[in-house]
Order: sequence, then C-alpha cells, then structure tokens
Amino acid sequence: MQDFLLDDTDRAFRSEVRAFLQRELAPRAADIEDRQNWDAVKAVVRSLGEAGYLRLMFADVYKGTLAKPGLTHATILSEEAAAINYAFETTIATALSCAYPLHRHASERVREAYLGPILDGAAVGAICVTEPDAGSDASGLQTRVEFDARTDEWVVNGLKRYISNASVADVYIVYGATPAGDDAKQGLTAVAVPKDARGISFPRNYTFMGRRGCIVGEVKFDDCRVPAGNLLGARGDAFRIMRGMFNFERAILGGSGLGVARSAFAIAREHAQTRRAFGQALGCKQLIWDKIAQMSWRIDAAELITYRATKMYDAGIDGRALMKEAAMAKLVATETANFCANETVQILGGDGITKEYGRAEQLYRDARALTIVGGTSEMAKYLIASRDLPDLKINL
Ligand SMILES: Cc1cc2nc3c(=O)[nH]c(=O)nc-3n(C[C@H](O)[C@H](O)[C@H](O)COP(=O)(O)OP(=O)(O)OC[C@H]3O[C@@H](n4cnc5c(N)ncnc54)[C@H](O)[C@@H]3O)c2cc1C
Repeated sequence: MQDFLLDDTDRAFRSEVRAFLQRELAPRAADIEDRQNWDAVKAVVRSLGEAGYLRLMFADVYKGTLAKPGLTHATILSEEAAAINYAFETTIATALSCAYPLHRHASERVREAYLGPILDGAAVGAICVTEPDAGSDASGLQTRVEFDARTDEWVVNGLKRYISNASVADVYIVYGATPAGDDAKQGLTAVAVPKDARGISFPRNYTFMGRRGCIVGEVKFDDCRVPAGNLLGARGDAFRIMRGMFNFERAILGGSGLGVARSAFAIAREHAQTRRAFGQALGCKQLIWDKIAQMSWRIDAAELITYRATKMYDAGIDGRALMKEAAMAKLVATETANFCANETVQILGGDGITKEYGRAEQLYRDARALTIVGGTSEMAKYLIASRDLPDLKINL
C-alpha cells in the first residue's frame, strides 16, 4: 500500500535499512533458522549497532543521518528485519527493551558499563519479568529483590522463565518484589545484573515450534548480589519503569507482525498467480480470491494502526494517552501475521507444509509466538476496552 502515514524521510529510511538488512541479515537467515547459529545473530546485531541503528529511540545519543529519529524508524527497522527473519528481529526488540530502562533510569556508572555496549551492538541484554507463576499477571512476581544494608548490595532470589537471550546476554534487567522497609512501601524493584554476577545461573533453554535461532530459557538467582548502584529508578518503583516500556514495545511488536504478514502475503500472491488448477491460475478461484483480499485489507489496517501509534509516540503522546493505540497495534498486527501465515499455507496446499517451497511453513511457526510475547492478545483487548468503558472495572 502507499504508506501515507510515513513521509519521504521515513520511506528513504525504509529503503536504506532494507538494503542494509538484505546485505547483512538475508545471507545469514538460513543459518539462523536451520542451525540456530547464535554467532550469526550476534554478527548482525554487531553490524546494526555499528551502523547506529540501535540508537534510533534515543535521540540524545543518536549519531546517524536522520534529523528526528524515533519509534517510527525503530518500528520500520523491526518490520524490515522480521520480514527476513523474525527470530533475529526479536534481538532488536529485546535490545531496546533493555536499553530503555538503562537509558532513563540507570546511574552514570551503570549506563556506561551496559548501555553503550548494547547500543553499539557489542553486548546483548535480556529482560527478566516472567516467572513460572506470574506471566500475564506481572503484579504477582515472586522473585525478591532485597537490599542488604550491611554490604550495600541488592540481593536477588527467584526463577525467571521464557527469557529471550537467557545465557547469551551480557546483562539482565531483573524485576522483583521488595518487601516494605523502614522508609519504603512494598513494591517492585528493578536492578541490572551482569552475566558474571555470583548466584546467577541458566538452568535450561526451551525448544519452541518457531523463532528458531533466538535463544530463550530460564534464569535463576540464588542470593545473587549486585552493588547498590545497580538499582534502576527508585526502590519499589519498577512498575512505573515497566509501564513506560509497554507502549513502545507494543508498537515495535506491531512492526514484527507486519514483517511476518507481508512476507507470507508475498508468497501467497506469487503462488496464486503461478499455480494452475482446473485449467486456470489458482488465484482465479473465488475462494482463493477471497483469501487474498482478506490478507490484503488486514495488512493495510495493521500498517495504518501500527504507524498511527508510532507517529503519536514521536509527537510526544505516551502513557495512558497512547495505551489503547499501542495495544491495538500489537493486537491487530500480530493477529494479522497469524491470519496471513495460516492462509498462505492453505493456498500453497502440500507445498505450504514442506520445507521444499520457500518459507511458508517457517512463517506459520514463527507467527504463533507473536500473539503471546510482550503481552497476549487477551491482555491487549483488556487494555483497549478499558479505554472504551472507563467507568467499569474489568474483572481480570
Ligand atoms: C518466545 C518467547 C519469548 C519470551 N521472552 C520473554 C522475555 O524476554 N522476558 C520476559 O519477561 N518474558 C518473556 N516471555 C514471556 C511472555 O511475556 C509470556 O509468555 C506472556 O506474557 C504470557 O504469560 P504466560 O506464558 O505465563 O501465560 P499466562 O499468563 O499463564 O496466560 C495463559 C493464557 O491465559 C490467558 N489469560 C491469562 N489471564 C487471563 C485473564 N485474566 N483473562 C483471560 N485470559 C487470560 C492469556 O492471554 C493466555 O492466553 C517470552 C515468551 C515466549 C513464548
């Protein structure tokens, strides 16, 4: 479609990153998918960092050519990367989710130690929220982050699961509960934990149906100690930090969904025009025509909704004022990715479920994670309706 919410600068940027990713990511995509080669992932992260693309969200440290870099450009980057390899793209999203609290809430020493290397692509970060008994309900975290005044350290105890980049990340942003103290109420606290801290371990990695090449596993903390200065923001105030991350994370996931949807649609269109059945191109059949039309309008709707959210964010609208639009971007684009990947497999018939015919089956497997990660579709719907029914309290 003519992406009319984007201006000429945004479109030129899209062409630039598309060419960059064709050069750096496309030749490594099969290695990432088929051999789950982390070194290949890291090499592309490094080149993205060196080119300045991991700084798009942080205008004060940005060094590139855009006059006003922002979420729109970070989302374009995600969309273009996900169109080639969604597993790889998750490392960009995770890098940004990690960089955001470091950039806004870390001490100068911690920023220097971890933020710069992540933005340069020299280091990788991870975000540790989810636990065995606390997923969608992040208010129920059982990991404890407690202050030991004797040693002037934060002490972390608990188990996190489904953590992207577990064991390969250099730094972990860990969210946990802090009990009430003399001068503070009970609340969530976030600390930065380096990979080599004593007491951190990585019990296991998961095998997923899709996103192959992105390492996801458990992270365990046994009396894991970090200096007092590794605190992010204020003690007991990490829910605010987490909330600040949600809007941009959801918009970026809109970009991920769009990338996957677009790639699937391209395969479906090609097949509908070249495959012959009953004496005609397959695409002439009414039921196939309908599938093409449905994919087409859903992708356009997802694109409009996603870039509406990014443009609002770049115009300074955030927090509650952006919650509904950001949740819509995540919901519509990730559901569209699943719809398109599923219909593409159907249009391809047997070819759709083999590895012989392009990436249809990979996109189908990859898409499935999108409606779960970064907040499920169900949670996104609660956020949307909560703005439409402001006087009702939702029964979660
Ligand atoms: C590949 C992958 C990578 C991930 N990376 C990270 C990461 O880097 N860091 C991190 O912290 N987490 C990560 N996660 C975790 C992810 O954020 C959670 O899986 C997600 O938030 C859902 O939590 P859950 O899996 O515990 O499911 P649950 O919360 O148990 O939900 C199960 C189902 O019930 C539904 N549900 C829950 N509550 C309600 C309700 N009140 N009403 C209706 N339906 C409800 C959910 O929508 C879902 O469909 C990752 C997950 C995956 C799969």
